[in-house]
Amino acid sequence: MLKNNSFAFEQQYVCEICGEAITNPLCPVCLTTEINAWLTLYPDLRKELIPKLQKYLKRVKEDITNSTQCIKCKNKRASICPYCFTAYVLGELKKLNINKIILKEFLEFFNFRNELPIPVKKEDYHF
Ligand SMILES: [Zn+2]
Ligand SMILES: [Zn+2]
Repeated sequence: MLKNNSFAFEQQYVCEICGEAITNPLCPVCLTTEINAWLTLYPDLRKELIPKLQKYLKRVKEDITNSTQCIKCKNKRASICPYCFTAYVLGELKKLNINKIILKEFLEFFNFRNELPIPVKKEDYHF
């Protein structure tokens, strides 16, 4: 009996940082676009953060040879999972000492780890 190994050709791409299979490939460039849109609310923060992200993206793009196709822009450059990229952005936000409310908003907007949702406590909102 001949074994049909076509399955083996289905390459599975893993994240360059955490080594997990990328199941929700959204490339860092598309994520940065969304972060940039969110930051229109915080122009000062945007001025600080976006140049850092652009530098990071440049490095990421140079590294990519063949990667997962992004679900949004269809470019093959989702070499880092959305979770690792947002974790990087989070680290940068913390370095900038932004206030906790903005940090929380970021986490709510860009929390890709659906299996571990960050609980939102009602008392954090002051209506
Ligand atoms: Zn990752
Ligand atoms: Zn993309």
